[in-house]
Amino acid sequence: MSVIKRRDILKQIASRGPAEVSPGKSLYEIWATDVFDLAKMKSVLPKPVFKSLEQTVESGVPLEKGAADEIAAAMRNWAISHGAKYYSHVFHPLTGATAEKHEGFIAINRAGEIVTEFSSKQLIQGEPDASSFPNGGIRSTFEARGYTAWDVTSPAYIMETANGKILCIPTAFVSWTGEALDKKTPLLRANMAISRSASRILKLFGHLDGCITTSAGPEQEYFLIDRAFATARPDLLLAGRTLFGRPGAKGQEFEDHYFGAIPERVQLFMHDVEERLYRLGIPAKTHHNEVAPSQFEIAPLYENSNIASDHQQLVMTTLKTVAKKHKLLCILHEKPFKGVNGSGKHVNWSIRSSILGNLLDPGETPHANMQFLLFCAAVIRGVHKYGHLLRAVVASAGNDHRLGQNEAPPAIMSVYLGAQLSDVFERIRTGKSTESCAPTNTFMNLGVDSLPPLPKDPGDRNRTSPFAFTGNRFEFRAVGASQSISDSLVALNTIVSDSLDWIADKLEASVSGGKKLEVACSDVLKEIMEAHSAVVFNGNGYSDEWVAEAESRGLRNLKTSAEALPVLQEEEIISLFERQKTISPVELAARFEISAEQYIKTLDVEAKLILEMAKTKILPAAIAYLTDQVECFESLGEYGLDRTSINFVAEMIKDLQLGVSKLEKNFYIGHNGTINEQLNFYSKTILADMNVIRAAADALEGEVSEDYWPLPSYMEMLFIR
Ligand code: ADP
Ligand code: MG
Repeated sequence: MSVIKRRDILKQIASRGPAEVSPGKSLYEIWATDVFDLAKMKSVLPKPVFKSLEQTVESGVPLEKGAADEIAAAMRNWAISHGAKYYSHVFHPLTGATAEKHEGFIAINRAGEIVTEFSSKQLIQGEPDASSFPNGGIRSTFEARGYTAWDVTSPAYIMETANGKILCIPTAFVSWTGEALDKKTPLLRANMAISRSASRILKLFGHLDGCITTSAGPEQEYFLIDRAFATARPDLLLAGRTLFGRPGAKGQEFEDHYFGAIPERVQLFMHDVEERLYRLGIPAKTHHNEVAPSQFEIAPLYENSNIASDHQQLVMTTLKTVAKKHKLLCILHEKPFKGVNGSGKHVNWSIRSSILGNLLDPGETPHANMQFLLFCAAVIRGVHKYGHLLRAVVASAGNDHRLGQNEAPPAIMSVYLGAQLSDVFERIRTGKSTESCAPTNTFMNLGVDSLPPLPKDPGDRNRTSPFAFTGNRFEFRAVGASQSISDSLVALNTIVSDSLDWIADKLEASVSGGKKLEVACSDVLKEIMEAHSAVVFNGNGYSDEWVAEAESRGLRNLKTSAEALPVLQEEEIISLFERQKTISPVELAARFEISAEQYIKTLDVEAKLILEMAKTKILPAAIAYLTDQVECFESLGEYGLDRTSINFVAEMIKDLQLGVSKLEKNFYIGHNGTINEQLNFYSKTILADMNVIRAAADALEGEVSEDYWPLPSYMEMLFIR
């Protein structure tokens, strides 16, 4: 009986000894040992080849002819000397997962001897079977095949798996007709877009040199529970979240977890994770407990956003595989447990010039400050015009449970600037001087001379904003814990690039018409703030007042994925991506289709699981309990015991049965209609039916004796390790 299984699990956990971890080595010993990075390439490649490679990595110029042959040979030698027998083109298909197909280095020559083989062709291009990856209709419209293409800018590395070591080559995955079928290609394009548009602005300020990139520092939240629990929780195993479960007597109300000591078992896990990340050249920097019990966070130092995105995928994979070794389950779902906080991913983002540094850092001089204000204003304008796009790219079945649930940023996109910077922008908007001196509209009088020193540190950090300025970067906090950060970075880079282009158009026209740059900047800043200050909000994003206020400001509140995803079908969004050359209309249509499909499939699995668990686990347990209770009550008749509880159990069983038959019926209707209709049906009807079943089951969990209850409880999962 499952109850016995549940007890077994607790016994198993109680008998666990500490996991074995390798003794801590010095950082210098392990740092990037498993990465074929620039330093290693420099030591083995002929000088001209390395120079060409370095230029490609730094400024995106194409690799010189013949260089790839030398690089492939060097890479193969390095990998084989490190014990790798296989190589793999690794890419991130549109589902957000990581895909790889392993090929052996082994070959047999004419003499029948074993040799190793890895040519530049094998390095540069691979041909996985594209038909097994979703492509949102692109395949049928175009060609059946897809290919992977080496991303020279992201270093190859060795991955240790259960069946040996594999040389992993980061690649883009595209169709033969050139459509992006992955998450990397648009990010590379979006980085190019912002580099192009930001250069236009910098040029006006006299900065002609340097390349421009975006940086990203993602903070990853996750839950960690003993793995044994999953054997009795098919919901955790298959859906990644609990579909049933009554919030325990203790949740996070004491808020004692955040600052508490990290449990020893988790420390060993983190040690192991970080050691592996260091070997992969991923600069893990902070780790700590999070708000909910058994919830934690890991954040690496920020990197170029393309590398950060690749590394982020590796962080997720590493968390999961190392957890397995420690007999733990790492849960990346956005809302695995009802009643305690879910998990997100805060994506810290900034724009960087190789010569000027961080362009979102308030400068030392008024001149630099003006440049900073322009970049900042570009972000404000972008989020105001296209906030709904930012909402759309974080839409998923999992994230719907988190956004707007008073624990995570709302589904309404606004920008937090902090009091001081808001004040500066407000004065720009109203044309008021910083001093009480005569107000004029020109930046000279307003700002360059009398602009107050801009905040280096925003001080008060508002955790309730989905998009916050935090001193020298913006932090996008609506991203879900299990999502790739690539979509968010592509959207951000694209909307900001579009704003920068708009600003550059205006400034270039004004300056060539004879206006002084300062005046032109002042005018454009004022124009932006007049049109877009509605998106700036420094108050409590969790409050009901904000929902009403945001509506009166005209900000969209797309509460569910069913409302948010169709944003990708809006004309204005299609032309934005097309204009910035980051995602073509065909690719965007494919992306919508795949996200919508993912949403529907997720709810499909959840609905099936909920039915199965209700019918085969919960109902039998509750009915057995009720039967026994009724018998007891009959034999104890003379005592006149209160029957409220068993009557309630009977009621809840009936509710549960009704819920089950309703969901079973609707489940079969759900697959009819267009994809947009299905989205709506699932998000409204199917989810509501699921909630009815869960409410009845959770109520039962509070009444039925634990000796009958088949599922590990929240208390057990979140507090026992
Ligand atoms: P907090 O929890 O206070 O927000 P963390 O230290 O956990 O801060 O994470 C902040 C993240 O932001 C780190 O990944 C950090 O490297 C990154 N970061 C810092 N400066 C920048 C920047 N200029 N651009 C992008 N990311 C940055
Ligand atoms: Mg943090």
